[in-house]
This record gives sequence, structure tokens and C-alpha cells, in this order.
Amino acid sequence: MVNDKLYRDKNSKREFCTEINDILKELFPICRSITGDGVRKSLSILKKISDFEIKEIPSGTKCYDWKIPKEWNIVDAFIEDSLGNKIIDFKNNNLHIVSYSIPIDKIVTYDELVPHLHTLPNMVDAIPYRTTYYNETWGFCLTEKQFRKLDKNEKFHVRIDSSLKDGSLTYGECILSGESKKEFLISTYCCHPSLANDNLSGLVLWIFLLRALKQKKLKYSYRFIAVPETIGAISYLAKNEKEMKKIISGFVLSTVAGEGKFGYKKTFLGNHFLDEIVKEEFSKQKIKFIEYPFDINGSDETHFSSPFFRIPIGTISKDKYYEYEYYHTSKDNLEFVKAEYLKETFEVYMKIIEKIESKDNLEFNINKIEVPDVKDKKETIYRSLNPYCAPMLSKRGIYPTLGGKIKQSADDFSREHKKREYKISNQKFISGETIDAILWIMFYSDGKHSLEKIAEKTGFTLKILEEASKQLTKHKLLEKLN
Ligand code: ZN
Repeated sequence: MVNDKLYRDKNSKREFCTEINDILKELFPICRSITGDGVRKSLSILKKISDFEIKEIPSGTKCYDWKIPKEWNIVDAFIEDSLGNKIIDFKNNNLHIVSYSIPIDKIVTYDELVPHLHTLPNMVDAIPYRTTYYNETWGFCLTEKQFRKLDKNEKFHVRIDSSLKDGSLTYGECILSGESKKEFLISTYCCHPSLANDNLSGLVLWIFLLRALKQKKLKYSYRFIAVPETIGAISYLAKNEKEMKKIISGFVLSTVAGEGKFGYKKTFLGNHFLDEIVKEEFSKQKIKFIEYPFDINGSDETHFSSPFFRIPIGTISKDKYYEYEYYHTSKDNLEFVKAEYLKETFEVYMKIIEKIESKDNLEFNINKIEVPDVKDKKETIYRSLNPYCAPMLSKRGIYPTLGGKIKQSADDFSREHKKREYKISNQKFISGETIDAILWIMFYSDGKHSLEKIAEKTGFTLKILEEASKQLTKHKLLEKLN
């Protein structure tokens, strides 16, 4: 029970915070992505705290609607002026490079360079976080201040020393067996580079929860996984379909160490026992928290709760993603995140797990809770042809290829996500509203929810849902049942 003591005892409270700090500092500078040595190195460092297995899935492996991409690694990258001064240097901050940028080494004009640059006009001294996982291109992220200083008559030397090769996707896994085979999932994502709250904090919380639970005699079983977001979760579901179908419930650990308020993103059911337990615990401890309804935008709960798996997943955050100003920017660093805050979230999670462990008769059959049956034939019912996870929309040209921007408030304060236009190809844009409508339809189209019911649940107009459904049918992702 070493760890229990560590967070109860006043003197050792400091020790636990020191331990959290040390690991945050060691992991923060590493350039992680959805594949590559950054993830491998990070997971092997975490293994020093508590052991788990590191596993690999080869590039090219098909996982439902997705495929494991080539492995990406990077050594160096910079933009140099004609005098050889490095204006932008990956070695100063790994956010400077758009993750998954292809290698390049050439001299370009200002006009040729600009389409490859990304800044935050509303937060002039912060570097944004951007990715291009499924569109082979290159790009740099820089502060708006750095951008404004660029000389329009200058020629620039751009070099990205990266590689995209057949390799594998790396993830961590540890299954703790309790007396009961009934299993909970504790998942987090390990693919973000130097960003502290999103989601180095989640990864660090994950390892300390694993260590703490290993030292307990457990009633239930717990499946700990640390996967690259989206593709890692989807490939894990595909590889462990039978086991994952049996999971009772669980958590996705994300953004847990900001100074802001605690938050709880509810399960897709909204009234699952997990929702009740979390709320009870917060009120028992007199902790104020913001309650967030389930949303298809978020993290891997979208995939875990998809029609085929329907695992009710909750997320307790401290300064939730999308909500804090520094989200997906270089200001989400180790000054923003504090070990004390992470420790607070750790304690909340431990209390909730203790509460779960204390219950004998949790209501496990989610089918009893809510699966509306639509018998009225006048209503339109669709069935998803990819019920296992969110579909890969970018390969169908209906999702932005540049990642990291969705719901980022620092990107443009004046427009809400729904009204925003995201670039999907050279000339085409898609609104946040259409993306959301598409994702909600795919989430609810289990053959039981009619479009009318989806409209009622999501607040979208029938017209928008009908248009999106037509598009999805055309892309062979939906099938009309009546
Ligand atoms: Zn993120």
C-alpha cells in the first residue's frame, strides 16, 4: 500500500508531487506523435514507475475503416534566412513542426512558404499545435509575432529531416485481474508532443493509477491502455474486439492538471451508474465541478461508445480540453500544469475507484437503461455500415486534413465552432456544424434511432441531418432501413 500512504501522509504528499514533477519534466520535451520513437521512448520511461507491456501494430494493418499509417520519425527541422540564421528551429520547440510533415530540403520564396505556415493571430506569442497525419504535406507552426517579422523579399531555406516508412504503431497495455472478470477500461492517449495538460498530464495520471491499483486487492478487473488518440484506440478495438465488447464501463484520462475547475464529461447514456458515482463523490468531497454532456467531439470515448461497443465512458478533467485558453498551444506547458493539481485529480479518481470497488450490485446491463425503439414507420431510420468507431472521413474528403484546430478558441475568438469553416481540400471547406451532424448520425445510427430522434437528442434540424445522411449514404457509410 505504498502509494496510498504517499498521497495521504503530509510529508510524503510532497514526495508524491516531486515524483509527478520529475516524470512530467522528463517526458515533456519528447516529440511524440501517433507513431514513432517518441511514443516508444515515453512509454519506456513510464515503465520505470510501473510495469506494463509495450506492443506494436505494423503499418498497413487494416482496422475497420482505418489503416495503420506509415511510421513517422523526425531528427531536425528549421527555416533559415539567406544569411543562414535559423528563424524557426524545431530544437527550440517541437510544436514548430506540423506533426507528420514529410521530409523537405529546398529554397523557397516568401509566397511559396506562407501556405505552409500556421499561426494563432489571436494569441500572438503562442505556437499552435497542428498535425497532418493522413495528408502527405509539410508545414511549420510559429508565433504570429515571428510570422510578422518575416521579410517578404527574402528567400528561405526550409529543411525537415523526417522519415515516413513502414514501421508500426506503439501502445501500452496492462490488465489487472480482480476477483470478478467484469472489467473496467482506463484509457489515455500518448500521441501529443510538448503539450502538458493535453495530454501529458493524462498519461502521467494513468501510470500512477496503474501503480496504485496494482497494490490493491481488486474486486473488479481493470484494463489499462495508453494509445495514440483515434487510430490507437480504433486499432486496439479491432485487435481486441471480443474482450472490448465485454467491458462494463471506464474512463478516458485527459487534461487533468490545469489550475481551472474540475469537469466531468458524462457517458453517452448520461444516467449510467458511473455518472451517478462520480457526481456523488464530487458532492461528498464538496468539490465544485462543471458537468459536460456527452459529445462526439472529444477523445476516444467516441470510438469506445460506438454502436457496436457501446461502452459507457466518463472523463474527469481539470481544465478540460477545448475549454482552456491555452489548449493546443505552446502555452500549455509545465508552467500551466502543476503536480499538485494532478495529485488532486489522482485522489478524486482513486476515491471513485474505491467506490466502484465497494459495490456488489452495479447495474451492468446497459441495454436495460436506454435503447429507444422506434416503431413509427413514418420516421427515417438509418443503420451505420461502420458501427465500430467513428469513420475515417478525411479519406472521403469530408473532414479537415489539418488536425489540431477543431474547437481551438485561440484560433479565432470571434466565431463559434459550428459556424467555422474548416479546409478539406485546396478549394473546399466544411462547416463545424456539418462535421458534427455527420459524427452524431454515425454515432446514433444503430438501426434503432430515427433521424427524428437524433434531431431531438442533438438539437440539429432535420434538414441538416437529412443532408448529412444523404452524403453518408453516398459514401457507403449509412444504409436506409425504411
Ligand atoms: Zn489534443
